[in-house]
Amino acid sequence: MDEVKEGKMMEKLPPQNPDSNMGDYEKAYSTFSWDDAEKTFEWSRTGKVNAAYEAVDRHVRTLGDRVALHYLDDEKEEKYTFRELSAASGRFANLLQDLGIVKGDRVFIFMPRSPELYIAFFGILKLGAIPVPVFEAFMRDGLLDRMGDCDPVAVVTSDTLKDRVPKDEIASLKHVIVSGDTSGDEISFDEMRSKRGEFEPVWLDLEDPLLIHYTSGSTGKPKGVLHVQRAIVGHYQTGKWVLDLRDDDNYWCTADPGWVTGTSYGIFAPLLNGVGTIVRKGRFTARRWYETIERARVTVWYTAPTALRLLMGEGEEVASEFDLSSLRLIFSVGEPLNPEVIHWARRVYTQPIHDTWWMTETGMIMISNYPSMPIKPGSMGKPFPGVEAAILDDEGRMLGVNEVGNLVIKKGWPSMMKVIWGREEKFKEYFRFDPWFLTGDAAYMDEEGYFHFHGRVDDVINTSGERVGPFEVESRLVEHPVVVEAGVIGKPDPVRGEIIKAFVVLKRGVDESEELKDELIEFVKKGLAAHAAPREIEFVKHLPKTRSGKIMRRVLKAKELGLELGDLSGAGEGV
Ligand code: ATP
Ligand code: MG
Repeated sequence: MDEVKEGKMMEKLPPQNPDSNMGDYEKAYSTFSWDDAEKTFEWSRTGKVNAAYEAVDRHVRTLGDRVALHYLDDEKEEKYTFRELSAASGRFANLLQDLGIVKGDRVFIFMPRSPELYIAFFGILKLGAIPVPVFEAFMRDGLLDRMGDCDPVAVVTSDTLKDRVPKDEIASLKHVIVSGDTSGDEISFDEMRSKRGEFEPVWLDLEDPLLIHYTSGSTGKPKGVLHVQRAIVGHYQTGKWVLDLRDDDNYWCTADPGWVTGTSYGIFAPLLNGVGTIVRKGRFTARRWYETIERARVTVWYTAPTALRLLMGEGEEVASEFDLSSLRLIFSVGEPLNPEVIHWARRVYTQPIHDTWWMTETGMIMISNYPSMPIKPGSMGKPFPGVEAAILDDEGRMLGVNEVGNLVIKKGWPSMMKVIWGREEKFKEYFRFDPWFLTGDAAYMDEEGYFHFHGRVDDVINTSGERVGPFEVESRLVEHPVVVEAGVIGKPDPVRGEIIKAFVVLKRGVDESEELKDELIEFVKKGLAAHAAPREIEFVKHLPKTRSGKIMRRVLKAKELGLELGDLSGAGEGV
């Protein structure tokens, strides 16, 4: 990859909060060291490490009555203070200990978003066991794949989901703990009620396991990424400097704890900063989400492009039915954030959106548009202080400004994965250019030091000798008023190498026609470049997505070419 971007001058938006916790980015970048961040943690004085202690128990003395967990569903709300969360998770840790579960054991969490999920999570951590949270939407096969991979001794689930647990196929699985109705030899979650709330955490080493997360499965078989206790240093510092969390914030991360965003930023980052976390049960609908912002007076909102695009597709009218005036900062992660979405949000929410880039493997935000820095729509932003990012060619040579290549990160940040469970060879592939960690994403850095996402390395299209990132084409299409979403692939072509094909989802009520296809092609030609315009357009009702909501371009491509669909254990709707 050696395409040179023509130094596109992009409009920048003014900083959202010049008085943010981080303050001046350049200054922070040149002076910050990870050692400074460790000083906030009690282990730096006591030598005793446990992430649950640092996130919850430690705050009981000073912030005991502050709300740590604010749960909402369609009918009710429940609030747990730091003191209550500490005691409840202590009870759960005692229950697990009485069952004989010990440090290092894997314990799956397969539950709907609920207070019990968070109580279980911290109970497992207190015991030094390894939580493996899995998204509630997975069916039996999805669980079988993941459980078969890392051999849990126990699973914590609910009566609504327990039938999907493949009890008999997983030899290691000894205990099924169920919240709600139990049968047979299942253990009731409520047994914790008779246990003591005091539980001295099992003290660990900074390099001991924290948790395992399975990746989304966008590019292949989901990988079991193991993080270590030290990761919380990164969660804490990015919570403070990227999310800009403050004592009086009402913070909502929409990601499910089955995904890394849902634990790193739905649990650790806020609680380590002494800020509560808002949890909303139920599936996504525009009204339910807006209502959550209104009811909980959300000030800082961390969400994803897939949701933002759908909210945009629902239109301004729905947004205007709700009071969203409490919002002060909005962040996004998971997929490229189309500039159009930022402009729309500025108009409708009166707030821009800050893009953040990171991966399950990195454990924390690596590159971001910060509240104190001008936002460049279409750019992921700049590396976090203490993080070094670069662009290398396929031989590992450093590329210059505006040259597209492999996005890499210098190893040594606190939340870097420790292993890919059971797959040493896979792990080694990330360090082909040691000490650089190879992300698998293609990107370039502009003259001002902002990084721009180009596409997954495997998704970059080579058409008539030009390299085109699907993201640019998709983003241009999304700018068209009738387009909700687009997925773009390269389709083999005898003359051009590949041609660009776009799968387009139209707004409700818009008629599909050949004229509209021509109009969209012209629209990309005019707004982007002739060589980047799709040669083919197909209208579809949905795009294939992972369970975490990401467009699966490899599935679009395989279907187009009539090939095997490949590993679908991360697949969700529309596949
Ligand atoms: P798998 O690794 O199983 O194929 P995945 O890569 O989608 O799935 P995640 O770890 O959830 O699994 O996602 C990380 C990837 O998401 C990044 O490598 C990148 O491609 C994409 N991504 C995350 N944030 C952004 C962003 N802000 N802009 C563009 N892409 C992003
Ligand atoms: Mg990945």
